[in-house]
Amino acid sequence: MTEKDIRVRYAPSPTGHLHIGNARTAIFNWLYTRHFNGTFVIRIEDTDTARNVEDGEKSQLDNLAWLGIDWDEGPDKPNSKYAPYRQSERNNQGIYQKYINELLEKGIAYKSYKTPEQLNVEREAQQAAKQAPHYIYEYEGLTNEERENKYQEYEAQGLKPVIRIHVSEDVVYKWDDIVKGKMEIASKEIGGDWVIQKADGMPTYNFAVVVDDHLMDITHVLRGDDHVSNTPKQIGVYNALGWDVPKFGHMTLIINTETGKKLSKRDESILQFIEQYKELGYLPEAMINFIGLLGWSPVGEDEIFTKEEFVNMFDPKRLSKAPAKFDAKKLQWVNNQWIRKSLDSVIPKLADELVKAGVATSGDYQNRTEWYKKMFEIAGVDGIAYTQEIVPLATYPFFKLPEMNNELREVVSSDVAKQLISDFAQQLTNLQDVSADNVMSIIRSLQTEQLRGRDLWNPLRVAITRAIQGPNLPEIVALMGKEWTLKNINDL
Ligand code: GLU
Repeated sequence: MTEKDIRVRYAPSPTGHLHIGNARTAIFNWLYTRHFNGTFVIRIEDTDTARNVEDGEKSQLDNLAWLGIDWDEGPDKPNSKYAPYRQSERNNQGIYQKYINELLEKGIAYKSYKTPEQLNVEREAQQAAKQAPHYIYEYEGLTNEERENKYQEYEAQGLKPVIRIHVSEDVVYKWDDIVKGKMEIASKEIGGDWVIQKADGMPTYNFAVVVDDHLMDITHVLRGDDHVSNTPKQIGVYNALGWDVPKFGHMTLIINTETGKKLSKRDESILQFIEQYKELGYLPEAMINFIGLLGWSPVGEDEIFTKEEFVNMFDPKRLSKAPAKFDAKKLQWVNNQWIRKSLDSVIPKLADELVKAGVATSGDYQNRTEWYKKMFEIAGVDGIAYTQEIVPLATYPFFKLPEMNNELREVVSSDVAKQLISDFAQQLTNLQDVSADNVMSIIRSLQTEQLRGRDLWNPLRVAITRAIQGPNLPEIVALMGKEWTLKNINDL
């Protein structure tokens, strides 16, 4: 096979927003394709109509695009050889029906009319007998003709069938997993004959996925560990239809380090959707960086990488067998590294956060870009984990002053403090060049044996910023200017 023939897909179901686990699947399929110069395909698996949510597909694709993942084919970029890219549309074109008919004709699939109630009774009996749940073939010992007669009998009763595929009892499904190595699952472990088409005419996931991966010439399938139990069923369909099986890789579970449990959508201790991180102001570069290390590790100790670097160094042999650790603190650290690394492009986003929070007016940033840059620096942008964190840091004292309260008032009410503040104001009034160094010199000149440390700094800080703690005071004065500083002192 030449490298060009590699075709890899990400196949989301539009059942909600893009989850961290799915984003990881998408990112690794994308990395695989880009590293080996293959074709990356997006296919929408929307046959479970009850679980589809409105805008689910759009949200999936928008979030992928936001992460910086691009695709070569998909619903919005059809290649006529493989289109359409939504399973619902493929179903309408009769693509799955064709192969269901083929399996019915070969006698490998059959119509099954058991009602959910009957199935429940069987399952309960199996449980009571301590047997693994399995389907019991209802036409045992009948000829094809007798089976056809049964079909007609059931149809006359108004029953609607599902289509089941027959699973041989003595087969062992084997595959060489890209991540897990040699895998073997015996057919008796998969619960017997299973449904390939539901009563409403929709194919099931395990059937449609095989038809589509085959028709779309998919060569490699990387997906979550939770799909391991589906793989033998899918191999069974490939075998039944006489098709080549693609190469499978099942990526390790993701564990939440805080709870030690598998990351699950119900776990509220952790944000799990890309959208939520985007809203808080995580950077797409940081998200890819962090997710790219979930279940994969590069050679060496470095941890900060661009997506291009990931593409270059990607090596499927370094996909890990051990569970990946989702450590929210590490994600914050990675994002902080990215904020510092790309400050110039982050600054407009920080300014946007202030507008969104109603702290700054829109357009203000464009009028005084340099001022904003300096202000973010003084406010402590270097320490933030995500852009929304800048809001409380930048609001006070740069846009608003906190209210005075008794505790603050006490700090500036002694005669010594009053004298100190007045001396400072006097010297500042006379200062020509209000630089942080010059302001610092004034404060130093006011220092005496008795008046130092907190006694010196706290009254000045309260007089100027209405707070006991905060960023570097001389720098605040230099940035905000003489007039602002003196006004605050006068308003005391
Ligand atoms: N639509 C499936 C899912 O969302 C895709 C599974 C697969 O990659 O085969 O999990």
